[in-house]
Amino acid sequence: MNDTKIDAPQESILSAFQSSGVSRRAFLRFCAGLAVSAPAGLALTQNASAQTVAERIGSARRPSVIWLEFADCTGCTESLLHASEPAIAEVLFDIVSLDYHETLMAGAGRQAEAALERAIQSNRGNYVLVVEGAIPSGATSGYARTASRDALETVRAVAQDAAFVVAIGSCASWGGVASAAPNPSGAIPASQAIAGKTVINLPGCPPHPSILLSVLLEHAAMHRLPVLDGAGRPRFAYDRLIHEDCPRRGHFDAGRFATAFGDDAHRNGWCLYKLGCKGPQTHASCSTRHFNGLPNTWPVGIGAPCIGCTEQDVAFRIPLFQLVDIHAATPAEALPPIAEPAHRSQTAAAIAIGGMAGAAGTAAWFAARRLPGTKARTVEEETEELEALSLREAREEDTDAADTERR
Ligand code: SF4
Repeated sequence: MNDTKIDAPQESILSAFQSSGVSRRAFLRFCAGLAVSAPAGLALTQNASAQTVAERIGSARRPSVIWLEFADCTGCTESLLHASEPAIAEVLFDIVSLDYHETLMAGAGRQAEAALERAIQSNRGNYVLVVEGAIPSGATSGYARTASRDALETVRAVAQDAAFVVAIGSCASWGGVASAAPNPSGAIPASQAIAGKTVINLPGCPPHPSILLSVLLEHAAMHRLPVLDGAGRPRFAYDRLIHEDCPRRGHFDAGRFATAFGDDAHRNGWCLYKLGCKGPQTHASCSTRHFNGLPNTWPVGIGAPCIGCTEQDVAFRIPLFQLVDIHAATPAEALPPIAEPAHRSQTAAAIAIGGMAGAAGTAAWFAARRLPGTKARTVEEETEELEALSLREAREEDTDAADTERR
C-alpha cells in the first residue's frame, strides 16, 4: 500500500464554504436550520442563538471522514445525497473532508486501497469512521471480501485509528435486514464487530441526514460527543416516541383507525395502529424531521405504518402487521384537531411551514407544540437576524474605514 501523506483537513468550515462558492446566506441558513431543528441536547446548539452556532461552526476545522460500506442497500448514502432542505448534499462536502467513500469515489482497485491508507495515515487518531451496513462475520462465509480482506478485518483495521465510530442506519446499528433469521452471513452490528472504540448508533432506514451532520459538527466545533441513550443513540434525536409527536395521534386517542390500505379512514389520515404501526414503541424523530425538505414526507405522513427501524427488537423482528403493546397511553399535550380529517389540517400547516423553511421549520413547529408556553423560532427569523447583524457589521466597518481615511 502507498503511504504517501495528504494534508490533514486544517481548513475551517467557513473558508471551505467560501472557496466552494456557497453564499453566505446559504451558510447562515444552514446554521439557523441546525439551531432550530436541534435546539436542545447538543452543546453546539443548546441555548445558543443562530449567530453563536454560525460562529462555532464557521471557525471549526473540517472533520476527516472515512466511510465504509458493507451489507446494506446504500439507502443511507442515497438519503444523504437526496436531502434538499437544508441543502445537505451541497453543504456536506464543505463541512466534512470526506476522504474515503467507496460508493462515491471514482477510484477502484489498488488506487482505492491507496486512498484509504492515505486517509488513515494523514489523520491517524482524528478521523471519524462511518460504517454503513451490517458486518458479515460468518467464520467460513467469505462474504463481503474486498482487497483480500473480509469485512470484519477491514472494519477493525480502520476503526483502530479512528477518533470514534458512527454506525449509520439500522443495518450498522443493529444488523438490520441482513441479520434477519436465519442470518446466513452471520451479519452483526458495528458495535459488536469493533472493540475499544465509542460507537454511536444512528439507526433508521435511513436516518435523517441532519442527525449525522449534527454529530459530526458537535465533534468538530465543540470537541465532544452527544449524550447517548442506553442503546448508543444520541438523545437529541432519539428521546421521543414517534407516537408522541405523530400528526395522526389525535385519531388514535379518539379511537379512529384505518383498517385496510386505501379505505376511507386510511385516505382521511386516521391512525395506522391497526395496520401494524410500530410508532408506540419506536424512539425516533421522523415525525418532526421530515425527509427531503418536504413537510409530511416520512412513512406515517404518506400512509405507511412505522416499522420500528430505530429499535433493535422491533423492525425485522416483529412481523409487519402484528400489533404492538401500548406503553404510553397518556395523550400528548398538543394534538392535531380530530373534528376534521388529519391530512387536511396537516396540509394547511405543511403549506405554511413549507413556504417558510422546509424540514427545519417543521421541526421548529413541532418543537413549539411539545413545549407548552414556548415559541420556536423559525429558520427565516434566525436567518433574518443573522443577516441584519452582518449588515450592521459591514456598515460599522465602512464607517471605521471612512474615519481612518479622514484622519
Ligand atoms: Fe401515529 Fe402510528 Fe401512533 Fe397511530 S399508532 S398515532 S399512526 S405513531
